[in-house]
Amino acid sequence: MSILVYIEQFNGQASPVSWEVLGKAKSLAGQMGGKLAAVVIGNGVEAVANEALTYGADVVHLVEDASLAAFRIEPYAAVVEDLVKAHSPKAVLFPATTRGRDLSAVVACDLGAGLAADCSDLAVDGGELTAVRPVFSGNMLTTVRFVGPLAVASIRPRSFPTPEADGAAGEIVRSGAVMAAGDIREQIDSFEATAGGEVSLTDAKIIVSGGRGVAKDPELGFKLVKDLADSLGGAMGASRAAVDAGYIPYKHQVGQTGKTVRPDLYIACGISGAIQHLAGMGNSKIIVAINKDPEAPIFQVANYGVVGDLFEVVPALTAEFKKRL
Ligand SMILES: Cc1cc2nc3c(=O)[nH]c(=O)nc-3n(C[C@H](O)[C@H](O)[C@H](O)COP(=O)(O)OP(=O)(O)OC[C@H]3O[C@@H](n4cnc5c(N)ncnc54)[C@H](O)[C@@H]3O)c2cc1C
Repeated sequence: MSILVYIEQFNGQASPVSWEVLGKAKSLAGQMGGKLAAVVIGNGVEAVANEALTYGADVVHLVEDASLAAFRIEPYAAVVEDLVKAHSPKAVLFPATTRGRDLSAVVACDLGAGLAADCSDLAVDGGELTAVRPVFSGNMLTTVRFVGPLAVASIRPRSFPTPEADGAAGEIVRSGAVMAAGDIREQIDSFEATAGGEVSLTDAKIIVSGGRGVAKDPELGFKLVKDLADSLGGAMGASRAAVDAGYIPYKHQVGQTGKTVRPDLYIACGISGAIQHLAGMGNSKIIVAINKDPEAPIFQVANYGVVGDLFEVVPALTAEFKKRL
């Protein structure tokens, strides 16, 4: 085994970033001279293990037990560490989700391995894994090498495309919990869903973003942006200029110091196309730009462009989509 990928699941649904990491790991495992393994932990999660096979894992370790039904650091870390000790992979990769970050840190600590957290790229150099990490709030990118036999890394969502699922050629290896249920010190009392029901920005297939171009009436501008996003079942994004101006909260920021997104459709409204914004959305499949300046740099990366005032163009688009969809 050259790489082990932790597949994150919640209520039997894998998080999409798990497949992104697995797809990238597939291209690296060959260069590192070994098989690609995945680990799925939970209870009643065989479907996720089968899915991992279709996304390219050679071997999926399916570890199931009632004590593993809900995510808890201690028993989950014990499973991953047990697999590492048994199979000696060169690298263990985690999605950089809230849970993946926690788990990667504990596993790296317990095994005395180096951890590269929140990476945006991975490569193999001389048979060894290297990782790219944004540092100083995304102002610099560093390339990290690992000292020691084991590399542990967590990978930012949307850093890599979702691979195509194809025929499942690998095998599933089943086992049970490593820790006795009575030894686990964490207990889950309940789960509470967050209010809102908004489409998550990082998972959205369609994103409509607003920038400083809304300045003459920010409230109306972002209402128009949101209406367009809602009419398409998408999420709302923003440029940093719009966030810094207080038009919209930071959680919507796309870019080098915001979220990295990779939707099928990205509609940029009143956004100039600064390099730091492109860093977060430049890998979108289709980019549409609405900007009143025909020389705006965003038009250089846009597949389709509308030169015009967003306060006129955006509501016209929303009305048309509402009619047709
Ligand atoms: C270290 C660092 C990190 C950064 N990180 C990020 C980041 O994560 N994300 C990010 O977005 N930026 C980031 N920035 C900021 C980035 O450099 C730009 O300043 C920012 O992206 C500009 O936002 P904007 O395009 O909305 O504003 P502007 O550059 O001011 O562009 C506004 C655009 O709106 C157009 N416009 C104006 N009125 C209208 C109208 N009525 N209708 C249509 N178009 C109109 C204008 O022609 C213009 O092109 C970062 C900068 C630094 C230095």
